[in-house]
Amino acid sequence: MSFEVSSLNPAQAEAVNALDGPVLILAGAGTGKTRTVTCRIAHMVERGIAPENILAVTFTNKAANEMRERVSDMVSKAAGKEITVCTFHSLCVRILRTGIDRLGYKQNFSIYTGNDQTGLIKQIIVRKGGADEKIEPGMVLSMISKAKNAGGDADSIDDPFVADIAKAYQNELRAQNAVDFDDLLLLAERLLREYDDVREICRGRWTRITVDEFQDTNGLQMRLLQQLVGKPYHVCVVGDDDQSIYGWRGAEVENILQFEKFFPNPKVIRLENNYRSSDSIIHTANSLIVHNVGRREKKLRAVKPGGENIRVISMPGDEEEAEFIAHEITDLHRVEKIPLEHVAILFRTNSQCRHLELALRAEQIPYRMIGAQSFYDKREVRDILAYLQVLANPDADVPLLRIMNAPPRGIGQAAAVLLTDISRERSGSVWEAMGVPSDSFSTKARNAIQSFTQMMLIYRERMTTCQEDMGVVMLELLEETGYIEWIKRNSKNEAEADMRRDSIDTIVQDLKDASKKGHTLQKYLDLSALARDREEDSDIEKQRGVTLITLHASKGLEYPVVYLVGLEEGTLPHKRSIEEGTRDEERRLLYVGITRAQDRCTLSWCPVRTKWGQKVASEPSSFLMELDDKYIEQTDYDDIMGAEVSEEEAADFFADLKSMFD
Ligand code: ATP
Ligand code: MG
Repeated sequence: MSFEVSSLNPAQAEAVNALDGPVLILAGAGTGKTRTVTCRIAHMVERGIAPENILAVTFTNKAANEMRERVSDMVSKAAGKEITVCTFHSLCVRILRTGIDRLGYKQNFSIYTGNDQTGLIKQIIVRKGGADEKIEPGMVLSMISKAKNAGGDADSIDDPFVADIAKAYQNELRAQNAVDFDDLLLLAERLLREYDDVREICRGRWTRITVDEFQDTNGLQMRLLQQLVGKPYHVCVVGDDDQSIYGWRGAEVENILQFEKFFPNPKVIRLENNYRSSDSIIHTANSLIVHNVGRREKKLRAVKPGGENIRVISMPGDEEEAEFIAHEITDLHRVEKIPLEHVAILFRTNSQCRHLELALRAEQIPYRMIGAQSFYDKREVRDILAYLQVLANPDADVPLLRIMNAPPRGIGQAAAVLLTDISRERSGSVWEAMGVPSDSFSTKARNAIQSFTQMMLIYRERMTTCQEDMGVVMLELLEETGYIEWIKRNSKNEAEADMRRDSIDTIVQDLKDASKKGHTLQKYLDLSALARDREEDSDIEKQRGVTLITLHASKGLEYPVVYLVGLEEGTLPHKRSIEEGTRDEERRLLYVGITRAQDRCTLSWCPVRTKWGQKVASEPSSFLMELDDKYIEQTDYDDIMGAEVSEEEAADFFADLKSMFD
């Protein structure tokens, strides 16, 4: 056998051997669910099931890649290639690429994401409501998405204006032969449901279907699965209701509880041994999750006895939190020789990662970021830095082209092209071309260009003479141009708007600090450019180092050493969850976080955290009080920092001393 049955426990082996009919594996974190279904797939191949008949669906691309690799290690190379392992969305693309013409689209349809969608919806809003219409495109898109996921069409949206936009949006997508992410699922499900021949082809192709992380599938994905799986239902789903963390996307834990209704008489397998984490970690995680009401009682016991205590550390502030962790990781790596890849820092929201990134950089610890955008990759950060660059050096064309119509001020695409042409003709910069607009411009465009350049010149003067606080001046500029309002309107939802506002305030605060230090604008720009200078590597999986990851993205993964930061009321549980009554989901999120840890787990919180560029007081997370204290070690930053220096540091110190005398 290509995998060791002896390496499985009896319940796991039972699942691996149960190849026919519906199977439901319902088990807690780290009990080997993913490992079991991976072995189960290898077993299918061994038993002569054709690899091309096997389909495994996971939730993220990362999880799919991992499973594909694990399966490939257990079967022949040729078989590995034939097995389909993918996400729901990519599965739908496959299905639609062959049959979408039935639904009136062409086979070469495009998939619209974020910006394309917003661009389209904005055009429609202007067309329907006029240029003064203030409705937020992001809100409209999320209402459309909600309706689609609930299986309804535009008519199911209550607000008649939004319903009208939704209808136009859908027609427009179709006219442009494009689909959005929701359409992928929706159309694939419809195609399978309405066209018997297509459904039969798919059912013939994939006769053995596995779904990992089933607790996070939503109603639409469930309906898709029902279409895909025909009698005698050779389907195996794996999940843990305690780890359902995508409620906001319409995931339905109900699916897992009702699996039996759709696929009758499933073999239900429960796994109770956790192989991932030490007993102290499991004990603590269990003590947290029991606080969720209405959950299915489940046993989860650690195979690894004992283990280190869980540390709960109170930090003076988020900067110190980040520095402390970075410092400790350096020690772990140097003294204990723990590979950096064994360490992960888990956080709840994007705004938390900036200090962590800065601290890791300061200690020269390589890291990779998963699930969150790097601060400097964010659109608003790039916009503001572009403004600053233009103020510092108006002849820089790229940043100028980026911001000259952001927010829209009547210098649109056509004007930009014309200006670029003129600058080429005259062998000058775009800025220079703006100074002497040619007759080819309409009066309106010429006026727009003129008032823009005049405004920028005034701010340039103010920013570069070092008389005023740069942060204050920049904020004025952003307000005068309407940038702040604009970026808010361009946000998908309130959370994104908050995040954007956060990064704007962060830069403003940075500029204030720079002014206090007596830095010039140029110096500020130089420093931030250097901070951005990272190895160009688009393939995040291949990057080495510490993992910085959102709690949501950490699902299914494991690390020997885990730091979980920001255990504060308002952060975890998140502010909105308190308002919206979704605390249980936040508790599951923390449960997911703790159960990622294999050997060491450190939770930290700060009484002051920087939010919106300002220090905000916060309380420790109420979840901390729920943890059983048997294996908890409460410490305080000063205690640790005041403790004696590590051997390594002492050695370094003496080495330095010695070299002075050599
Ligand atoms: P999650 O709920 O986080 O997705 P999971 O249930 O999918 O977790 P796996 O990731 O499959 O769990 O396994 C967790 C760890 O336990 C892995 O390192 C795996 O190799 C190990 N493991 C699983 N089963 C066994 C076993 N029978 N013997 C030894 N180790 C095992
Ligand atoms: Mg798993």
